[in-house]
Amino acid sequence: RFGTEMVGEDIVEVDFSKRPFAIKSDQREVRAKAVIIATGAVARRMGVPNEEKMWNNGMSACAVCDGALPFFKNQPLMVIGGGDTAVEEASYLTKFGSVVYLVHRRDELRASKIMQKRAFDNKKLEIIWDTVFEDAIGENFVTGARVQNVKSKEVKDISVSGIFYAIGHTPNTQMFEHQLDLDATGYIKVKAGTQETSVEGVFAAGDVHDHKYRQAVTAAGTGCAAALEAERWLAEQNV
Ligand SMILES: Cc1cc2nc3c(=O)[nH]c(=O)nc-3n(C[C@H](O)[C@H](O)[C@H](O)COP(=O)(O)OP(=O)(O)OC[C@H]3O[C@@H](n4cnc5c(N)ncnc54)[C@H](O)[C@@H]3O)c2cc1C
Repeated sequence: RFGTEMVGEDIVEVDFSKRPFAIKSDQREVRAKAVIIATGAVARRMGVPNEEKMWNNGMSACAVCDGALPFFKNQPLMVIGGGDTAVEEASYLTKFGSVVYLVHRRDELRASKIMQKRAFDNKKLEIIWDTVFEDAIGENFVTGARVQNVKSKEVKDISVSGIFYAIGHTPNTQMFEHQLDLDATGYIKVKAGTQETSVEGVFAAGDVHDHKYRQAVTAAGTGCAAALEAERWLAEQNV
């Protein structure tokens, strides 16, 4: 209806110093007067031996998305991490699991004081300090987690039905590193209350600029906002 052309190619390079902007895939270069970036972010994984086999079979990187699934209900669950997200996700999972173990490699949390208090006050949340996650156990679905205490070196298996990584996300912004302002963790910075990036005519939407909500509905919402802003910006340029 709008003449949109869908192309399934990987963008490998952009040049936002030229106008129209240059966007290169491995097959061609296109020029555009406005660009909306929505390349998303990838949840970090640890790459433990059974990870591929157990992914979506009890292993996940999104407690908010998957925590309410029926097979986690009233089961022991585990969260790996120690920051605000990990504590938030572990607290959230206590609504569903019988107990939630928060495995953290240090002897104190990186999470904010308020989040720590929330964790310590939660009777269903048990923090396993100084411990690293080694592997998921199970045949077709997670039945346990192998962990190691970094101080005593003791290895033990804990019965759990769900293992949730909460060790951060990596935004897909490598190709924008010298083109746009990014924050310290690589997310695209937008001007407050807008989807405008540091380059006029380039807009960002979705997880690539949002480390806070990372939800489909917020991504779609900011996508809509970016489209409206791009359209208005083009109209202002008499395009
Ligand atoms: C397991 C899981 C379950 C989830 N469940 C829910 C849920 O129940 N509800 C909810 O609201 N949210 C959920 N989410 C979060 C939701 O999926 C994301 O917030 C949403 O998809 C973000 O949309 P996006 O368009 O910003 O990025 P994405 O959906 O990640 O899309 C980015 C796209 O950009 C493409 N891309 C990246 N780099 C390039 C490149 N160089 N060239 C070309 N294309 C590129 C990618 O291939 C991808 O297609 C879940 C996430 C996960 C991981």
